[in-house]
Amino acid sequence: MRLTFKKGGIHPAENKTASTRIEMQPLPMTVCVPLSQHIGAPAEPTARRGDKVERGQLIGRAAGTVSANVHAPISGTVASVDNAVLADGRPGRVVIIKADEESHAADTAAREEYWKKVADSSFGDTSNDPHTPEELRDMILGAGISGMGGATFPTHVKLKTGAVKPDIMIINGCECEPYLMCDDALMRNYALRVVQGSQLLARAAGAEKTIIAIEDNKPEAIDAMRKAAAAFDGMEVVAVKTKYPQGGEKQLIAAVTGRYVASGALPISTGVVVDNVATAFAVWQAVATSTPLIERVITVTGDIPAPERKNYLTATGTPLSELPFTLPENAKAILGGPMMGRCAVNLDAPVTKGTSGLLLKSTGAKRTVYPCIRCGACVDVCPMGLEPYLLATYGRLHRWDDARQADVADCLECGSCSYACPSNRPILDFIRIAKKRSR
Ligand code: SF4
Ligand code: SF4
Repeated sequence: MRLTFKKGGIHPAENKTASTRIEMQPLPMTVCVPLSQHIGAPAEPTARRGDKVERGQLIGRAAGTVSANVHAPISGTVASVDNAVLADGRPGRVVIIKADEESHAADTAAREEYWKKVADSSFGDTSNDPHTPEELRDMILGAGISGMGGATFPTHVKLKTGAVKPDIMIINGCECEPYLMCDDALMRNYALRVVQGSQLLARAAGAEKTIIAIEDNKPEAIDAMRKAAAAFDGMEVVAVKTKYPQGGEKQLIAAVTGRYVASGALPISTGVVVDNVATAFAVWQAVATSTPLIERVITVTGDIPAPERKNYLTATGTPLSELPFTLPENAKAILGGPMMGRCAVNLDAPVTKGTSGLLLKSTGAKRTVYPCIRCGACVDVCPMGLEPYLLATYGRLHRWDDARQADVADCLECGSCSYACPSNRPILDFIRIAKKRSR
C-alpha cells in the first residue's frame, strides 16, 4: 500500500518540466536584503550606511524569540538601510549592498571554489560531528536558517521542542506543488549533503529516527537519497503517494507515522518534527562549512520557453528580474507554486530564503464565477476535514465568530477546495480573510 494521508487531496497536473541540473546564477552587483525573510520579528540591522561588509557577514540580528539572523550575500558597501516594497507587495526594511568590480570578482571566485568542495564527497563529513544538540541549535540560529519549503519558520525555534521529546524527524522531500523542482534538483545533485544535514537536524531535535519522505513521482531523487542514506543508522527513505498536499506537515506526519495532529495542536504534539530537504542542506552547510544561509536553489518555470525552465542557485537579495526568463504576454508571476504561492507584484524585489520558485503564467480569459450548487466537491477534497463552502460564506458575510467555531484556524490554505469547485468560486480567498479576521 502506498503511504498517504486519508482525508481529501487532489491530483493537479504536475507540469514539472524544468531541467534538474542546478545552474549557478551570477552574483549581482547590488543586492536588496530584507531583514524579514522569516516568520516572526524582523531582524535588527547590525550594519549601517557606509559600512564595508564581507560576503556571509551578519547584517541583521534575530530580534526576539521567533526571529532569524540575516547575512550579507555579497561583499561590498552598505548603500542604505531603508524601507522597500517586497515581491508580494508588502513593505519591509531592507539592507542595500553594492559591490565593486574587485569584491565581485573575489566573491565569484570564492563561490566557485566553495561549490566545487560541496560536490566533493570526501569533504565535509559530519557523521561524527561532536556538537551537542544545544550547540547545533545555536549554529543553526547563527546561520539564520528558516524553513525553506515555504513556511520560513526559524529552524532553531522549531527544534527547541520544550517538554515534548520527539522520537521521529521527518525530512520533507515531497515537493507536492505542481511546477516546482528545486527540492528534486537538490536531492538528485546533492543527496549526500541533504542526508548529512538530515542527521544533524535529527540530533539537534533529539530524535532517534529520521524518515526522509519523497513523492513517488521522483524516482531519481528517491534512488539517489536511498544510496546516500544507506550507511546512516536510524535513517530511512520512504516513497509516499503523489497527492496534493502530501507535503503539508500534518498530512505528511499522518502518511508516514499514522499519527494525527489534533485540531488546534502543533505537529510536535505527535512527537514528530518536520523539516524540508533544502533546510537540511542549509544545516549541513552551516555545520560543515560555517556558511550562513545566503543562497538557495529556485525553480524558474511556467509559460516560458522550455530551455528557460531551470533551477538556479541564487544569492538571496538578487532581484527576481535578473533571473533569465522571457516574460509571457499578460504575465502573472507567482512566488512558489500555483497552489500555495503568492502573487509577485514587484519583479525588481529580491529572492529571499523562502523563495522556492518563480512561476510565470500567461493569464487566459477571466473565469466566470457561478453560484454554489452545493455539490460538496470542496468538502470531499479538504485534507483537514473542513467545510470550505461554509467557511467561505462566513468570510464573505464577515461572520468571524462563526468561522472560528467552524475551525477556520485549521485551514492550511492548500487551495484544494478552490481547485475542485466547478463554480470557480474564490473559496480560499474568503477563507483567508475569515482566518485572519477571526484570530
Ligand atoms: S484551503 Fe483550507 S478549507 Fe480549502 S481544502 Fe485546503 S485546508 Fe481545506
Ligand atoms: S465545490 Fe463549489 S459549488 Fe461545490 S459545494 Fe463547494 S463551493 Fe459550492
